[in-house]
Amino acid sequence: MDLITSVSHIPSIGPSYTKKLEKLGIFNIHDFLYHVPHRYYDFSKTTLIANSQVGETVTIKAKVQDIVSTYTKKRKQMQLISVSDKSGSLNVVWFNQRYILSTLKKDVEVYLSGEIKWFGRQKAMMSPVYELVKSATGLHTGRLVPVYNETKGLTSKWFRARIASLLTLMEDMQEILPDDDLKHYDLLSLTDALRLIHFPDTLQNAKKARYRLAFNELLSIQLSSLYKKRTWEKTNQAHALAITQNTLNRYINSLPFELTSSQKKVIDEIIVDLKKPHPMNRLLEGDVGSGKTVVAALACYIAYANTYRAVVMAPTQILAKQHYQTLTQLLQPLGVSVGLITANMKKGGNDCDVVVGTHALLGKEDHFDKVAVVIIDEQHRFGVNQRKYLVKKTQNGFYAPDVLTMTATPIPRTIALTLYGDLDLSTLDELPAGRRKITTWIVPEDKRSSAYTWVDNEIETKNIQAFVVCPLIEESESSIMKEVKAVTVEYEKIVKSFPKRRIALLHGKLKAQVKEDVISMFRDKKYDILVTTPIIEVGIDVANATIMIIEAADRFGLAQLHQLRGRVGRSTKKSYCLLFAHAKSDKSDKRLTALTQNKTGFELAEIDLSIRGPGEIFGTKQSGFDELKIASWTDIEIIKKTKKLALYALENEDTYDALIKYMHNSQQY
Ligand code: ADP
Ligand code: MG
Repeated sequence: MDLITSVSHIPSIGPSYTKKLEKLGIFNIHDFLYHVPHRYYDFSKTTLIANSQVGETVTIKAKVQDIVSTYTKKRKQMQLISVSDKSGSLNVVWFNQRYILSTLKKDVEVYLSGEIKWFGRQKAMMSPVYELVKSATGLHTGRLVPVYNETKGLTSKWFRARIASLLTLMEDMQEILPDDDLKHYDLLSLTDALRLIHFPDTLQNAKKARYRLAFNELLSIQLSSLYKKRTWEKTNQAHALAITQNTLNRYINSLPFELTSSQKKVIDEIIVDLKKPHPMNRLLEGDVGSGKTVVAALACYIAYANTYRAVVMAPTQILAKQHYQTLTQLLQPLGVSVGLITANMKKGGNDCDVVVGTHALLGKEDHFDKVAVVIIDEQHRFGVNQRKYLVKKTQNGFYAPDVLTMTATPIPRTIALTLYGDLDLSTLDELPAGRRKITTWIVPEDKRSSAYTWVDNEIETKNIQAFVVCPLIEESESSIMKEVKAVTVEYEKIVKSFPKRRIALLHGKLKAQVKEDVISMFRDKKYDILVTTPIIEVGIDVANATIMIIEAADRFGLAQLHQLRGRVGRSTKKSYCLLFAHAKSDKSDKRLTALTQNKTGFELAEIDLSIRGPGEIFGTKQSGFDELKIASWTDIEIIKKTKKLALYALENEDTYDALIKYMHNSQQY
C-alpha cells in the first residue's frame, strides 16, 4: 500500500464506504490521511465524578452499574445508565441509541466524555462519546479527540478508527524534504505531522502538524505550477514576433490619448514575451477602466503586423460583442479586419485578422489557424487543460500561440502568484488621468424614498440612465431561480417607485437574444433604468449610465462591489453609486465605508481579505479559492516561503526528487 492506493483496497472498506468517501473527495490513501480534523475535543484529563460540574465537558473513567432502556414523556427512546467511580455515581443519558446496550453492560469499565447537564433535578452526562477501558485504543476519549468533516454514514468516530489503523499500517511516511529544510523552516517530519494532526498529544503539537501539512500543500501547488510552466515552454514553440518601433508608433499614435505609465510598463513586459520563441502565458490584472483592452488590442495588432491572426475570447456573448465593437474602433483604422463569432451572430469570421468570440471558440480547430496571439477575458483559470486546445502540430514541432489572460478581479499579488503560478503576472495599477471618482453613498433605509426622488430628478434633468442591481443570491442549485425571483420583485418595486420612467429587466434566465436586445435598447436610451442581477458585473459598457444602485450591498465582496460600480463612471459625466445595506453590522459598515473612500480595487481586495477571508471576496465558484484543503490563502508567510523553496527545488531536482515525486502524485492542479 502506498499513498496512491485506492481507498477500496483498505481492509474493512467495501464498495459502499468507498462511495461515501468519494463524496468527500477521498479517493486514495493520501486523500484519506489528509482528511484532517477541523477541530478537537479536549478529553485529555479524566475528572472524578464528584468534581464534575454542570456546564462542564469532562471525561470520566467509571464502572457501569445499572442499565435501563425506556421512553421519555414524548415517546422518545432513551438509554439511561448509571455509572460510578470511587468518588460517586452519575447518570448517563442517550436518546435513540439502543445499540450501545450491546457494548455497555453491567460492571464494564468505560471512559465517557461529554457535557454535564441538569436532567430533571439531577445532574447527568448527556449523549457522551465512550470507549471501553479494556479495549481502549485511546481514540475516542481520554485525550484530544479529532473531529472530522462528516457526511451521512461517515462519523468522526468511524474516521478516527480508520485513520488510526491506516497510520499503523503505513508505518513511516517517506520524508519529502531534506533535513536541512526541515531544520531551516522548523518543520515536523511528515510522519510526525500526519500522526499528530489526527492524534495530537497537545494542541500546540496539533498546530505544528497543521503548519507542516499546510507547508506541504502550498509547496506542492507552487512547484507543480512551476513545472507546468516549464514543461509548456519546453514542449511548445511560439512564433517569435518581430516588433519594430514603427509598428508600435503606428498603434500608439492612433490612440486619442496618452498611455498611462502603467500601460507602458505592461506593454514592455508583453513585448518581451511576444518576441521570444516560447509561448507567452501572462495574466493581466487591472481595475475596471484601467485600460486592459487597449493593451490587448496592441498585442492583436502586433500579430497582424507579423501576418498572423489573433483570437479574443470573452465569457459571454454580450461581452464578446462589446469587445468586437471596441476592437473594431481601435484596429479598423489601421487596416485590421475584425470579426465576431457567437452562437447567434457571425460577422466576418475565420478569415478576419482578429476574431472575437466566446470561450466556446476553444476546441474549434478551424478558428486557430495562423493564430499567434490569443486574448482571454475574465477567465481566471485558463489552465493547461484549456490551453492544450490551442496547440498546433506542424512539421517543425508543436506551436502554441502567445496567451494573454485579463481579469478585473483584483487578486492580491501573493495570492495571484500562487493561484496562477504557471502564469506571469502583469498589473495595471493606475487609472487613466482625468478619470472622475464615482461618488459613493451608503443610503440608510429611511432615506430611500428621497434617494429615489433624487435619482428620478437626475434622469429627468440630465438625461442620464441608472442601473439597479438586486441582491446576490448564494450559489446553489436553485440559485438561478431564486435570483430571477429576487430581480423580478425588485423590478416591480422600481416600476412602482418610478412611474415616469421606462424600466427594463435583465437576468440570467433570459434567452441570449433577449439579453442582447435589452442591453442594446438600454444603450440606445430606450430605457432609463435597468434592473438587473449581478450579471452585469463583468463588463457592460454604457457610457450614459451614471447612477448605480446596489441592493443588499453588504452581501457582496468589496472587489465585486468595486467591479459593479465600475459599470458607471465610464464617461466624463459625474457618476454616483448608492449602496443599500440590509443587515447592519460593524463589519459591514467598515467594509462599505471603505468603498466610499477613494481606494483602488487592489486596496479593497486587501481590506476584504483581512476582514472576511478570501473565499468570500471573489466568490468561490470561478476563482478556485476553495481548493485548499489544509492551508489558507491568508497564510501569506507560508506562501512566500514555499514559493522560494519551490523555485530552488526546480533548479535542484536531484536534492528534491522525493518532493517532486510526491508533487506529481498528489497534485490535480
Ligand atoms: P478595461 O478593459 O481595463 O476595463 P478599457 O481598455 O476598456 O479598460 O478602457 C476603459 C476606457 O478608458 C476606454 O474608453 C478606453 O478608451 C479608455 N482608456 C484606456 N486607456 C486610456 C488612457 N491611457 N487614457 C485615457 N483613456 C484611456
Ligand atoms: Mg474591459
